[in-house]
Parts: sequence; C-alpha cells; structure tokens
Amino acid sequence: MNVRIENMDWMTYRDRVGNGECKVAIPVGAIEQHGPHMSLNPDVLIPQHIACQVAEKTGGMLVAPPIAYGYKSQVKSGGGNFFPGTTCVSSRALEEYVYDVILAFVEHGSREFILINGHFENSMCLVEAADRAVKHAQLSGVEIKVILLSYWDFISEATIEMVFPDGFSGWAVEHGGVLETSIMLKIHPELVDMSRAIDTPPAEFPPYDVFPPNPDWVPDSGTLSSPTKATAEKGKWILDECIAKMSETFR
Ligand code: ZN
Ligand code: MN
Repeated sequence: MNVRIENMDWMTYRDRVGNGECKVAIPVGAIEQHGPHMSLNPDVLIPQHIACQVAEKTGGMLVAPPIAYGYKSQVKSGGGNFFPGTTCVSSRALEEYVYDVILAFVEHGSREFILINGHFENSMCLVEAADRAVKHAQLSGVEIKVILLSYWDFISEATIEMVFPDGFSGWAVEHGGVLETSIMLKIHPELVDMSRAIDTPPAEFPPYDVFPPNPDWVPDSGTLSSPTKATAEKGKWILDECIAKMSETFR
C-alpha cells in the first residue's frame, strides 16, 4: 500500500484527501551529525519510517514528504553546530515552513494532521506552527486539528530497561547513542558503520547554556553517549512499541 503522498499521482491523492477524512502525518527532522558511525539523517528517517508504518497499519492516513531541515542543534541535546554536516535553520524559518505546509494541505481538503517530530530542538517551533495554523484556518471558517508528538515519548520504562540493561543515562544524552543507532540499524543498516562507533561516556553539562556555545562541552565524536551497545534487535523493540501505540492512538 502506498501511503506516501509524493509517490502518488495528483488525482489519486485528490480522491484520498478531498473529503477531509484522511489524516496527514508530517515527519519533521533535522540534518545533524550523529557521530562518525552514522549518516546525518536519523532524525528524518526515523519519524518517516514510523509514520509510514502507522499509516499502513491504521489506514485513513497518508504521509507527507518529511521536512528535513530542523531547528538549530543545541550543544546539550544535539552536539551543537560545530560539526560539518549539521545544517540547521532558524526557529522562524522552521515555524513558517511547517505552517505553510499545513495550510497548503488544508487547501487540498485535509483537516487533521499529525506532526511526528524526530529532533528534540524542533518542539516549540512546531507548537507555534500548529497553533497559528489552527487559528488561521479558524478565521477562514475551517476547523482543523493538529496533533504534535515526538516519537520517543511513546517508549515505555519497560522498553528502556530492556534497551539499557546497565542503566539509562537519560534522554538528554541519547543523541547518536544506543537508541537512535539501534533504530537505524533496524531500518537503514546501510547507513550505519558500527566499526566506526566511538565508546564515549555520557556527556556531562553544566545546568545552563552559554552563547556563543562552547565546543569543549561536546565529546569529539559528536555523540552525547556511547552507541557501541546498539543492536538492530533493540531497534526493533523500540519501533514495535512506538508503532503499536501510535497505531492504537490514531486508529
Ligand atoms: Zn537524532
Ligand atoms: Mn537531533
């Protein structure tokens, strides 16, 4: 079943969304270094994969092309902007982009959207885009609904315990670590080279940010914790749970 909008012809697409009953999932990610062992796009490919799986399971949902560029990588959650490859946009650029995309889909007939976030820093820009899109549509007499989620919020304590049997260092340092690497090993093993994974202790940061950001705060490898214990099997556990819970929620 094709659930990806960009792979459809316009007439088929029009017939799917015209009556407003088909939900549209929009993955939003980032192009950001994730260590020497992984490509720049896990934050894009992971929410896109999850969105497609959920759409296939639930029916009545299509997946929009992902928005690949995300809000500025932050030192304490994504390693910051010191690394070649990390390619980010400002909050206003991301907000306007997502806002415009939602309203374009509204023109086609869609009324319900799910923003599936794959990059922590995007969160509040997406809140703003969703809030403004809903209000704008309302002013023209159209009721729309936007659901905003980050996929990792669907992962339970029990799964965390299975994935991190030696203890979980916390979400903040999961950038390029076991979680994302395991998922990528499952969905795109060709984009991961575990022989280049660097064993680094969980990054420790002071309880504040500083501008200009200080590159000395970030481990040389770019990951904020060690990816070396990542496996495709762990990736499957995480994905199975996220996809099952989201499918249940949106069925
Ligand atoms: Zn990431
Ligand atoms: Mn990220």
